[in-house]
Amino acid sequence: MIHQMKSFFSLMKSLPDKKSCREFLEEQRWNGVPVCPHCGYIDEHHYKLTFFEEFNGLYKCRHCRKRSTVTSGTMFEGSNIPLDKWFYAIYLFLSHKKGISSLQLSRDIEVTQKTAWFILNRIRYNLMREGIGNHEGIVQVDETYIGGKSKGRFKFNRGRSMKQKIPVVGLLSDDKIHAYVVSNTKGSTLEFIIAGLVEDGTTVVTDSWGGYHYISDFGYTHEVVEHGIWKYVNERGFHTNGIEGFWSHLKRGLKGIYHSVRPKHLQMYCDEFAYRYNTRKMDDIQRFIQFLTKPSERVRYSELTCGFI
Ligand SMILES: [Zn+2]
Repeated sequence: MIHQMKSFFSLMKSLPDKKSCREFLEEQRWNGVPVCPHCGYIDEHHYKLTFFEEFNGLYKCRHCRKRSTVTSGTMFEGSNIPLDKWFYAIYLFLSHKKGISSLQLSRDIEVTQKTAWFILNRIRYNLMREGIGNHEGIVQVDETYIGGKSKGRFKFNRGRSMKQKIPVVGLLSDDKIHAYVVSNTKGSTLEFIIAGLVEDGTTVVTDSWGGYHYISDFGYTHEVVEHGIWKYVNERGFHTNGIEGFWSHLKRGLKGIYHSVRPKHLQMYCDEFAYRYNTRKMDDIQRFIQFLTKPSERVRYSELTCGFI
């Protein structure tokens, strides 16, 4: 049904009420056959519990006998916000290249700004980096500092010393990007990230920062680009232009909140921008459906940031 949908408008027209939204989510998440979130048992004959003879999506597992709905264990769980507003919010959030503010969203879906803020943060939590796989072939790795630059950015840099800037490490290969907030850019930190996310035998392209000096000891071919005036490509044609482009895109997006961004929030924004990059070849409907069908849950910050904060 979905893949024939030409637009989000026609999709939402086919989901006029609570029931149709819930059934749509069941179809997308379960392929129509209920899955118990407690024990994982899949059975089209899970008991349907009714309330005043009306079935509202509450199932009882035939195996573990626990109750659940299609929203149990997901980002929608325990929320009083109707699913159609969630759907609109997710679509708007994912399709706006530069993101959407809570004020704008509150107007678009007619909720308070506080509710809109809550919805946006739940969506952001679920833009997980997991599942896109490791890098191979050629990967560009670069580090940057968020919080203003030392030169020529007085407006954003006022009162902020180098110590207060937040380091971020990014990895980019052909079709995907990872961006991690880190506590420092020492060799041990960079090596830990690269070894965890890059397959053996990959060519790792970096600038001449000392933290990358021993990367070849980890089984990689290391290409160094010495950044000088008018020099962005090394003798063998390798460069880090892609990841640097991502940094400027991220920094432009963060411009309004540069001065106040904190590490845990910064990781969410890194995930948001990386997610958009990683799904850039999908159209807006595909991205929306993919987001609805991926496993979602309430994720702790510490899990999202791999303990770096
Ligand atoms: Zn069960």
